[in-house]
Amino acid sequence: MILKHCAFYLLTPFFLASCAKLQAAQASAPAVVAVPSVSAALVIPANALRLEAEDAVLSGNTVLTKRPGFSGKGYVGSFEKDGAKIVWALPQAKAGLYDVQIHYSAPFGTKGYDLLVNGAKLSGTFPATGEKFAAHSAGKVEIKDGANTLEIDRGWGYYDIDALDLVPAAAPKPLAAVPETLADPQASPEARALLHRLISSYGRQTLSGQYEPKDSAYVKTVTGQTPAIYGGDLIEYSPSRVAHGSKPSGTTEAIIAEAKAGRIITLSWHWNAPTGLIDAMLPPGKDGKPVDARWYKGFNSTATTFDFSKALDNPASPEHALLLRDIDTIAGELQKLSDAHVPVLWRPLHEAARGWFWWGAKGPEPYKKLWRLMFERLTVTHHLHNLIWVDCSGMDPAWYPGDAVVDVVGIDEYPADVADPLSSHWEDLKTRFDGKKLLALTEFGGVPDVDKMRRYGVQWSYFVSWTGDVGPHKMTADALKRIYGSTAVGNR
Ligand code: CA
Repeated sequence: MILKHCAFYLLTPFFLASCAKLQAAQASAPAVVAVPSVSAALVIPANALRLEAEDAVLSGNTVLTKRPGFSGKGYVGSFEKDGAKIVWALPQAKAGLYDVQIHYSAPFGTKGYDLLVNGAKLSGTFPATGEKFAAHSAGKVEIKDGANTLEIDRGWGYYDIDALDLVPAAAPKPLAAVPETLADPQASPEARALLHRLISSYGRQTLSGQYEPKDSAYVKTVTGQTPAIYGGDLIEYSPSRVAHGSKPSGTTEAIIAEAKAGRIITLSWHWNAPTGLIDAMLPPGKDGKPVDARWYKGFNSTATTFDFSKALDNPASPEHALLLRDIDTIAGELQKLSDAHVPVLWRPLHEAARGWFWWGAKGPEPYKKLWRLMFERLTVTHHLHNLIWVDCSGMDPAWYPGDAVVDVVGIDEYPADVADPLSSHWEDLKTRFDGKKLLALTEFGGVPDVDKMRRYGVQWSYFVSWTGDVGPHKMTADALKRIYGSTAVGNR
């Protein structure tokens, strides 16, 4: 979370085609019709229904033919204008789950898009393609009997859509067994027991989790259940915050008390940059709003001049020493948890690939180098063996620190539709990590609809909701009760 909504950190001074062709096809056949291959470059799966973008109803877009490699009569682009979208109508369909493949081009880099099925939004990300077309698995969608609409909205814009294929989804395969070994070869019995617990429920139940005690209390009041996982943050222990008056005293002790009350602990660290804090309001950026770069925003890349990449390349520099000083400070808090036999789902340096935190502002290589430095410093120098290492850098494989230093792969998501099953992300991660690492929803804006996710074959090990209006308060009381009361959710 980039913390812009996060009140508690502010405590310290923070389709329609009325596509006759399609209607004719569907009047005489079931919803899904076999379409002959129209391009040697693009392979259309058997029984797929291909919807060409140029046959959709276009808003703010045009049909293009300049770039070779498209199917049909062209492609549609470039989703530059606000509100730009394409809409297909399926006048007659058969209910079921379908896999979606989008044929697209993203010449200017990775781009977020929104796919809407009957108005329900599913967000995903197109990897960069250069000047070529590529196929992107957008995960599974639910189609109802009769009329349906599919729509692709602008999202981040500046991409082109060639076509969309709907393929009846096969039943999801069971998850492959994850090895009961941790990256730290000397992992403590408590850490190994926690991994065992997570592996035992993986594919059967998703464990619930919640940041902030007051939000856990709200969940308890509404649902009668206590989230299995307690989420905390070591932010205020950052030396550059303490130097400005932060008083974190008691935070670690409160976390230990939650563990003793039977909860699993996950910790993040909004690491305030050790030096180079701008500590000022800056003139408006691209969005026209002033940039808050005061000291307590020092975890944001916009609030510090600290170049950690340079520091990492110069081990004798004062800046490198400051990196170690800060890690050592946090090690002192993690040591208290170790002494109390509390294992931790440790997720430092989160959301790195998004670039908004300083540890993600220099690209993937420095980030991975910093991750490895922290891993070594905590496990080897400080003998901290109570940590289960959770990487939440993002979806881009270039940012993954490596199997040898990661135990759980997580994603942080704030989908536009809180009921988004995140199927595209799940399918991508499952392809990469099934049978290797546990997959988790390490931060979520709202409370995820675990039952809906399971219909899509999405089976996170656990979820942890963020706080307030981007946490449980985003949900209706009925939805919160239904999710926390589900047999697919494991509570404390
Ligand atoms: Ca096309």
